[in-house]
Amino acid sequence: MDYLPLFVDLRTRKVVLIGGGVVAARKAELLLKAHAALVIVSPELCPQLQQEYQQQKFIWLQHDYQSHHLNDAYLVIAATDDGKLNERIFHDANERKIFANVVDDQPLCSFIVPSIIDRSPVIVAISSGGTAPVLARLLREKLETMLPTSLGKMAEIAGRWRGKVKESLTNLRERKRFWEKSFSGHFASLVENGQLSAAEQQLERQLYQQDNSGELILVGAGPGDAGLLTLKGLRVLQSADVVLYDHLVSEEILELVRRDADKVCVGKRAGNHSVSQEETNELIVKYALQGKKVVRLKGGDPFVFGRGGEELQIAAQAGIPFQVVPGVTAAIGATAYAGIPLTHREHSQSITFITGHCRDEGAELDWQALSRGNQTLAIYMGTVKAANISQQLIHFGRDRETPIAVIGCGTRRNQKVVTGQLHELDTLAQQAPAPALIVIGEVAALHHQLAWFGQQTEDIRWRSAVLELA
Ligand code: SAH
Repeated sequence: MDYLPLFVDLRTRKVVLIGGGVVAARKAELLLKAHAALVIVSPELCPQLQQEYQQQKFIWLQHDYQSHHLNDAYLVIAATDDGKLNERIFHDANERKIFANVVDDQPLCSFIVPSIIDRSPVIVAISSGGTAPVLARLLREKLETMLPTSLGKMAEIAGRWRGKVKESLTNLRERKRFWEKSFSGHFASLVENGQLSAAEQQLERQLYQQDNSGELILVGAGPGDAGLLTLKGLRVLQSADVVLYDHLVSEEILELVRRDADKVCVGKRAGNHSVSQEETNELIVKYALQGKKVVRLKGGDPFVFGRGGEELQIAAQAGIPFQVVPGVTAAIGATAYAGIPLTHREHSQSITFITGHCRDEGAELDWQALSRGNQTLAIYMGTVKAANISQQLIHFGRDRETPIAVIGCGTRRNQKVVTGQLHELDTLAQQAPAPALIVIGEVAALHHQLAWFGQQTEDIRWRSAVLELA
């Protein structure tokens, strides 16, 4: 290890910054954040530093540098564009045994400044030891996405509760278990959602009432491409104890689940249930009552033809805390990747999401309303009933030559789009791989003009970056 990472308390300690340009301004910003007693030595200041000087944020010595400026300093940063001067500052500091940093000149540094993720009081510092600062910055960007902004708040509350927890749980192992459960369980979810007093109540329950409740989180996985999962969804997947997932959830997304989590397939396809909804409900309740963080991972969005509402009702009845992380629904994702805008000023003023798979025969759709022009219909689970759908729409007045598209495996690498006219729907629906979405309306014709395929490589890269960190 070439450098020892330290977190230094600079509050009211003198730090001398030599230089008054934009580079110095960047360093000044950081030092002021850490409440250092900042002294800037420079004949001139850039506009930003001028402004801060006016706000009395630091002491300005409007001189050329002299070694006595370093007296009583704890740290020195040289940010001038004069190489010889920087070198002199470094040697002066070394003589006085003051840690010194010449910006972007590693040999002239007795300390280096890391890339920082600030979730105060939690701070993550990353360094490549001066060899590849850009790499350290890239790593920081990746970690940024994985650490919720609420992390600092969580640490702050935990800091306040530390004494009480120590008093109540005298055994070290018990305390460790308590905090592990808190930081990955319902307490963490409540803090992330900004429900701070409920979060503290949850800690209290856990501490004094031996609360062992788990929780249920419905997560929308999107239509397939892992890049479409939300950051929140990803974080939830990485802290789950059990993940109950559908057939519709892609392999790519399943790879993002925490390695130690139990993964249970409760898949079902329209009309071909492998695990009944009742069994899924029972599993949710069973695991949650064991104190587990249960993630119900659903294709697309949990509330769009996903029976998410029913599962939440079951949780509510059983007194299990729950939350929902929305996802990109198939009609949004698949059409975007197929180059079919759902609305268009010239062609379509509204969009309707419909299921072609009704619960009961006779629960008929309002064909008359659906047959009007200037609107887009996005039909889920519609391929089996495709013949009936086109007959009804034509019967009630929609032009038989209305453009249509059937998008199979939307957003996935094997996405297939077939297009034609409304009267051909039945034949076309058989040509697209499952799962398939039917789009009816003039906008479907825009596929030929707007189809694009550039996105996949980008998302695969993103996914492998996340996997490296998992
Ligand atoms: N909750 C899901 C929908 C579940 S219903 C969502 O919000 O997307 C299942 C239907 O969704 C399938 O029959 C199909 O019509 C559609 N679907 C789901 N994923 C799809 C995909 N990748 N491409 C095309 N259609 C898809």
